[in-house]
Amino acid sequence: MTQQTVSSELQADRAALTDTVERFARSEIAPHVTAWDEAGEFPRSLYRRAGELGLLGLGYPEAYGGTPAPYALRMDMWVALCHFGASGGVLASLLSHNIGLPPVLAYGSEAVRREVIPPVLAGEQIAALAITEPGGGSDVAALRTTARRDGDDYVIDGEKVFITSGMRADWITVAVRTGEMGAPTLPASHGALPPEGAGAALGRPGGGAGSKGASGISMLLVPGTSAGLSRSRLDKMGWLCSDTAHLRFDGVRVPARYLLGEEGAGFRIIMSNFNGERFGMAAAALGFSRACFDEALAWARQRKTFGTALVGHQAVRHKLVDMQMRIHSTAAWLEALAARADAGDTSPDWVAQVCVLKNHATQTMQFCADQAVQILGGMGFMRGTVSERLYREVKVMMIGGGAEDIMKDLAARQWGL
Ligand SMILES: Cc1cc2nc3c(=O)[nH]c(=O)nc-3n(C[C@H](O)[C@H](O)[C@H](O)COP(=O)(O)OP(=O)(O)OC[C@H]3O[C@@H](n4cnc5c(N)ncnc54)[C@H](O)[C@@H]3O)c2cc1C
Repeated sequence: MTQQTVSSELQADRAALTDTVERFARSEIAPHVTAWDEAGEFPRSLYRRAGELGLLGLGYPEAYGGTPAPYALRMDMWVALCHFGASGGVLASLLSHNIGLPPVLAYGSEAVRREVIPPVLAGEQIAALAITEPGGGSDVAALRTTARRDGDDYVIDGEKVFITSGMRADWITVAVRTGEMGAPTLPASHGALPPEGAGAALGRPGGGAGSKGASGISMLLVPGTSAGLSRSRLDKMGWLCSDTAHLRFDGVRVPARYLLGEEGAGFRIIMSNFNGERFGMAAAALGFSRACFDEALAWARQRKTFGTALVGHQAVRHKLVDMQMRIHSTAAWLEALAARADAGDTSPDWVAQVCVLKNHATQTMQFCADQAVQILGGMGFMRGTVSERLYREVKVMMIGGGAEDIMKDLAARQWGL
């Protein structure tokens, strides 16, 4: 097959996928988001529906019920889901498996993979990732939740906080301390591409590696039904229909076969998730920015002031153009980094660019949400508009998955500044 053919086939796949996701998001997400936000959750059946459409399995091996896909296709899914669904709460919980499962896929035994991954990709079960603790999220190496070996089990004690899908998760991939703090810190990123499927996950820790103790961290898979695991719901500024939880582990006992990778290798596993996750958040921010633009343009066309539609006023048109300028630069940058990743380039420069692209894309979203609310006027302050919701949701996009300052630090390290 010539390169031309491969490229045109990929373009056809991308168009078809975007079309499917748009129809799903427009009909099965967007009309319900306000009600789901008020209820504080969306129905579990949405996972099954997304599973049936193959959206949950995009990027995962066929052997576990997935569909292998390049970065470009996964990017298109995130952008379209966010553009036409316009809900960070739905995105965060519906796709929380994309932070919970990659460590299982890459480091779990074959038996554990077969037990866990297929039901999650089918939307029958839910997966989450728990790293952040009340003591902090950016400094992953400082985490304090412990797991001690006791015969054929590990026994976990500690707390995790801000965990997306934490209330409903059937499987929680938990970062624990199995060794002493004080060993030298590993590099914060090694530039390796995360396992396929990593990426759309939101709200993960910052990925800084400022403190010592990285070598004493391990990853354990915890069944949601485990005795000693208690969960409490957290109220938030946005992402209202996403279930965010505080988790307590009081002597939670899990079989040692649920250890992911080797004991003490957890920090590297955590870091290997980050690049795809940040890329996914940038794609999501692009979709949300477009949702704000669409609503602002539609409003500006039908709302009249001083005898003309809002869009007839130059100052309003300039706002729309400023939104488009940022949207196009974000889209072009995403496309370029997807192409590089799909060509196998995950060099330190690529990692650095993903970090600062996440900042650029979420700042684009912040700008677009702000301008859209302004164009909508009083209506932009009302519950039920897309812009009002995304205005509240943007802050978590700038904190989760690596807060802005942490992203800059990491980029500076990758670039050797
Ligand atoms: C809605 C929501 C969902 C989330 N979902 C998950 C999840 O599913 N799983 C999970 O594990 N975590 C999750 N998180 C946690 C999230 O990843 C953390 O909030 C984030 O990593 C920041 O950690 P922190 O809140 O402890 O802030 P801190 O680490 O305490 O940092 C506070 C502020 O200080 C800044 N800062 C920190 N260090 C430096 C430095 N060296 N230089 C300059 N500035 C610095 C940071 O940028 C940040 O702005 C979620 C958070 C939210 C709000």
